Amino acid sequence: MNLKPNTETPLRVLVADDEAAIREAYRQVFGEADLRADLDAIQDLRARLFNKTKAGGGAQRRTFEAMICSSAVEVVAAVGEAVAAGNPYPVVFLDMRMPPGEDGAWAASRIRELDPDVEIVICTAYSDVDPANIGGHVPPQDKISFLQKPFHPHEVRQMAVALYSKWRAERHIARLAYFDSLTGLPNREHSMSRLDNVLQRGAADGKTTALLYIDLDNFKRINDTLGHSAGDELLKQCSARLREALEGLASGGAHRLGAGDLGRLGGDEFIAILPEITMRDTASAAADAVIIALQQPVRLGHHEIVVTPSVGIAISPDDGTDAATLLHNSDLAMYFSKRRGHGAWAFYDASMSDGALRRLTLEGKLRGALERQEFSLHYQPQFELASGALSGLEALLRWTHPELGAVPVLEFIEIAEDTGLIVPIGEWVLRSACAQARQWRDQGLPFGHISVNVSGTQFLQRDFPDLVARVLKETSLEPKWIELEITETVVMRDEAWAEKALASLRAVGVSLAIDDFGIGYSSLGRLRHLAVDRLKVDRSFVSNLESEVRDRSIASAIIKMSRTLGIGVVAEGVETFNQMLYLQEQECESAQGYLFSRPLPTADAEVLLRRVAANVDLSRTEKLRRLAVETPAEATKG
Ligand code: C2E
Ligand code: MG
Ligand code: MG
Repeated sequence: MNLKPNTETPLRVLVADDEAAIREAYRQVFGEADLRADLDAIQDLRARLFNKTKAGGGAQRRTFEAMICSSAVEVVAAVGEAVAAGNPYPVVFLDMRMPPGEDGAWAASRIRELDPDVEIVICTAYSDVDPANIGGHVPPQDKISFLQKPFHPHEVRQMAVALYSKWRAERHIARLAYFDSLTGLPNREHSMSRLDNVLQRGAADGKTTALLYIDLDNFKRINDTLGHSAGDELLKQCSARLREALEGLASGGAHRLGAGDLGRLGGDEFIAILPEITMRDTASAAADAVIIALQQPVRLGHHEIVVTPSVGIAISPDDGTDAATLLHNSDLAMYFSKRRGHGAWAFYDASMSDGALRRLTLEGKLRGALERQEFSLHYQPQFELASGALSGLEALLRWTHPELGAVPVLEFIEIAEDTGLIVPIGEWVLRSACAQARQWRDQGLPFGHISVNVSGTQFLQRDFPDLVARVLKETSLEPKWIELEITETVVMRDEAWAEKALASLRAVGVSLAIDDFGIGYSSLGRLRHLAVDRLKVDRSFVSNLESEVRDRSIASAIIKMSRTLGIGVVAEGVETFNQMLYLQEQECESAQGYLFSRPLPTADAEVLLRRVAANVDLSRTEKLRRLAVETPAEATKG
């Protein structure tokens, strides 16, 4: 923005004085005068001081436009009108004494209420007022100045120009702080404080406010393919259309749209505040209007593109009484609407929770995660407690999304199960684990076996055993290197089916473990009928070994039982030395847990395998000691 005095628009000043002669003097000062003489003088001086040639100074012309009043009441009214018309005065000159009417101090405080930004100059003939006094009544101090009569015309003009420049600079700074420079719309901060005001007023008057959250569909793609300047141009056109659409409705009386009711939150997100609506329909009609307006093709250079917005609507007081809540809920509604299809609106409702949104988002991102190669496997080692030897590695799935980061496996596995995505994902896990086992075999690295977790959905697939056989064949891996873990609750869901399914998997040649054992309270006696090789004692029992007598007895019962049945047993989630000692006492076969190692990325798991290969001849204590010391640092850290 150009902060030099503008050469075209006149500088508007407002004056109040009760004496006709002084009013006439002001008229002369502002009327006939222009700043050419003053500016010429300054430029002459500059030219002489800095040896510069004079710029075409004659073209500089500052004219004034003075509105001259004769009383305090009149000048206050003039300020009010100017503010209402959206064209406030930068500077007002007030005579201190205007008998028999109200004086300049009275006018100053009324004016300040109407216009917080105007520069006020108090003019007085005598030193009969203490300037600090009025400044105190009419804050801020730095927006009130004093001028002693009689004044010189130059003094008045220069004061007007200086105060005008200050006023303009302050407005410019405020614009930068509160308005979005691209679209000129109120920015997030300003929109939120505006929403707060509207809501407070609405609450006091018992009025309903609607908030529209508007987000362009696929804006990122346009930005990425056509470039950022095309994206900027699109945002500008969209904000102009939004304004037009909402103003159109407002003029039709559907709702009131005031200055600042439309705002840009950032990126391709806009909000519209609709104060004092009487029906929900008004808000959805506004959303329709917004969608129709934005849907018209937009020209961007040689391209003609169509953008659709998704709109979420939240209504106060029902959907929130403060700005943050209302914004949040309208945002949720927008997301749900976008999920259902582009170019539509939705009202917020209570089922739209953050949890539900997170689920929807994950579901969307989970589709295609395989193709985008966002999955990886980590390996957590299992050790024999008697010998300290590495007995196996459990393959654990990891998902890292470019925006969401690492997503906890338990969070997305459930969604993958519900959507059936678990089937291809599970197949990927199996294939990757087999390929890794093949590679480590080829390198002569001893890993015992690799355990692969199998979800209930996979396990229920009739052709799952065939798939396992096929993958083993494809990766040319002998089945004995793979163990499949099926959770106890899945096995219990339909024991008859499980018995058959486990038998067919056993026939493929892989070993089988029941995961998270103990929480499902399946009768240990039934285990006899199941073709399983191992039980994994659920972490919950292990973590309570020291504190809960009951959990301790369950853990030791599971360990004894497995010995009686002649099957293996692994304690999961061993975190403390005392837990390990107790398990050793109970002659639990093996253990897995943070005490020994966290799940490791492939490269770190390989480092571990190399160490194990180098330590095969050591004693048990030495092995465990070395492993505890040597396990890669990031693996044992909390
Ligand atoms: P799980 O099969 O019981 O796996 C053991 C979980 O316990 C892993 O969590 C592991 O990181 C964690 N863990 C191991 N030692 C300790 C310890 O000392 N303390 C604590 N607090 N936790 C320990 P993770 O990797 O988050 O996996 C959670 C669950 O997700 C797994 O439980 C399994 O049910 C499932 N899962 C993981 N990978 C796959 C997969 O490839 N397919 C399927 N279907 N499920 C998987
Ligand atoms: Mg497991
Ligand atoms: Mg487990």
